[in-house]
Amino acid sequence: MRYAAGIDLGGTFVKFALVSEDGEIPYKDKLEIGSKATRDDILNTLKIAIEKIKDFADERGNQLSGIGIGSPGIIYDGVVIGGADNLNGWSNVPLGEIYSKAFNLPVFADNDANVMGLGETVFGAAQNCTDVIFITVGTGIGGAIVMNGQLYGGYKNRGAELGHFTVDHKGVECNCGGRGCLEAYASTSALVQRYAQLSGLPEEAVNGIVIVEKFHAGEPAAVQCMEEHTDYLGHGIASFVNTFAPQKVVIGGGISEAGQFYIDMIKKSTFSYAMPDCSVYTDVIGATLGNNAGCMGAASLVFRNCN
Ligand SMILES: [Zn+2]
Repeated sequence: MRYAAGIDLGGTFVKFALVSEDGEIPYKDKLEIGSKATRDDILNTLKIAIEKIKDFADERGNQLSGIGIGSPGIIYDGVVIGGADNLNGWSNVPLGEIYSKAFNLPVFADNDANVMGLGETVFGAAQNCTDVIFITVGTGIGGAIVMNGQLYGGYKNRGAELGHFTVDHKGVECNCGGRGCLEAYASTSALVQRYAQLSGLPEEAVNGIVIVEKFHAGEPAAVQCMEEHTDYLGHGIASFVNTFAPQKVVIGGGISEAGQFYIDMIKKSTFSYAMPDCSVYTDVIGATLGNNAGCMGAASLVFRNCN
């Protein structure tokens, strides 16, 4: 049995786990990253996380095949190029070089959403599929494309930004500097904003859980904004279906755990917009790995790329 260190770097935590090739997690933990953390602080926290995994593995007599890291930003050839705006100084970071030297192990790194999508494909909702679209709905919208069993990120891994697919070409401004992106309409933040607007409540008093509760209670504002939210998502996803003809579209992120009704609403919207010939073999389903998707996907980078 092979084992890998799976590291999931986020804006507030480093989650990390020892993961076996058959998807068992004998050990996992997390370390906080303060909002003032510098580049060196983050690098040091990652190092501590890897040491903890290695110590645990050594004690059990498990040899690590390598280290997998999921990180925000654009990542190519083990280097974080940039684009991770919520981490201070997180650009031009040669993760592969730093940790392969420090631990004398192969290191593989990719964008956090890509890694989660790979995790769901190898160990989760889209097991045994070769063609998968993964969407994570949160503060923003991240995405991953698995094509012929491999992550596809475009030339030098700069693409697969599925949250920045345009749904309204003259639409509202998006965080990316563009206009009318799916993320600007269908992220959880956009949902909260829209609900606050419709209900007159302050945004601070609203979150995804509150909206879902009120939706179930049949409150008109909640019903309207959930219908709009899932309609936008389905509209965007339909274009991904028409382009990639995936076997599964996997929906992740906190709100995807609201219940099957949420996935069903997105699915209905998706099929109402997608071309029937493109979507014959497609299903829209919820993610199953939850918080473990990042670590498991990072570990599967190792299993995929090491002999
Ligand atoms: Zn955008």
